Amino acid sequence: MPTPEWVQAWFRRLIEASGAEGRGVPWRLLTFKESSLEAYSALDGGLAFSRGTWQKFQETPEQAAAVIAHEMTHVIRQHAWTLSCRVQPLLASLRAKGVDERALRHAEHVFRTTAHAHELEADRGAAVLLARTGAPADAVPRMLRSLGELPESSTHPSTRRRQAAFVLQGKSTH
Ligand SMILES: [Zn+2]
Repeated sequence: MPTPEWVQAWFRRLIEASGAEGRGVPWRLLTFKESSLEAYSALDGGLAFSRGTWQKFQETPEQAAAVIAHEMTHVIRQHAWTLSCRVQPLLASLRAKGVDERALRHAEHVFRTTAHAHELEADRGAAVLLARTGAPADAVPRMLRSLGELPESSTHPSTRRRQAAFVLQGKSTH
């Protein structure tokens, strides 16, 4: 389904802002029919968002831009490569070999902490990209607040932890 023009305009601004890091990526933007908020990025620069994402943020477009910039950072930093080409095959081979539970638990812990670190890095990277477009500095924390209190999952830290990490990272880099 078509992506709203205001979203495409933000996407173009963010690509421009991604500079040398993002210039070589064959970016593509796709919107799919789903009313809840869903956002995905693929290694090759394909970004997919639910229609619900744009509906949620249509009154606060800079927060939609924060979501796009978060996914773009996953691509630029090649986060999916680390997880899908390194950590997941390791986990699969450990499971296939029937290694002891403790080794498997440890590998799962590595997957979880790597995935969580990627999310915190993508929040920070989103703020850097947005700042280059001249968007308001608090667009990322405001977007996190809009997400509401999501609990921790295997791939994402809780919203509360993302908010706390964002504040801490900001202090250490400024
Ligand atoms: Zn993410």
